[in-house]
Amino acid sequence: MDIPIVENVLKLNDEVAAINRKTLKEAGVYTVDLIGSPGSGKTSLLEATFKAIGDKARIGVLVGDLTTARDATRISKWCPDVVQINTGKGCHLDANQVRQGLDRLKLDELDILVIGNVGNLICPVGFDLGQDSKVGLFSVAEGDDKPAKHPYIVMEAELLLLNKMDLLPHVTFDMDIFKEDISRINPTVQLMEVCATNGWINEWCDWLLAKVGK
Ligand code: ZN
Repeated sequence: MDIPIVENVLKLNDEVAAINRKTLKEAGVYTVDLIGSPGSGKTSLLEATFKAIGDKARIGVLVGDLTTARDATRISKWCPDVVQINTGKGCHLDANQVRQGLDRLKLDELDILVIGNVGNLICPVGFDLGQDSKVGLFSVAEGDDKPAKHPYIVMEAELLLLNKMDLLPHVTFDMDIFKEDISRINPTVQLMEVCATNGWINEWCDWLLAKVGK
């Protein structure tokens, strides 16, 4: 009987997530759980976001990875408030790992926290971390079928970003199919087209700044 065990794990996770949410709210930090496949451009998006937002808001980052600290090393060039969480064989972050990460950040000095989840569109969606919103990241290089094949992130996200728009002329990607699938699965989710490497991310930065009244 596996199901009760899974339910207990999620119940425990949800309890810790509620504590995280309270801690973050008390510190006045708006928290995004950024979920995307490996290679969708999560770290590039964060680098571009720091470049664009500058000192308009102070952003901290918790970044999950199986074994390396490469993402945190890249981000630390832009941001002093970055904590790497190595998940070992774990394919998602859980609320307890985030709890430990929060202890290493000066939350009172932050406006925004971005949790860069492990590159995976499936189980990260099921684990509440205490975030205010989930943001899903797709890229045109992955193909137009990803929303249909990974509906859970589409269902749960407040915002979806479609990255690598500069590659659109070079890849097989039907924008109509992509958008139709999204609106069928979640008619209210917002979709923004971005290109992190070209710095074409203003709409996303404005969305983020608006969340903290900046
Ligand atoms: Zn997982």
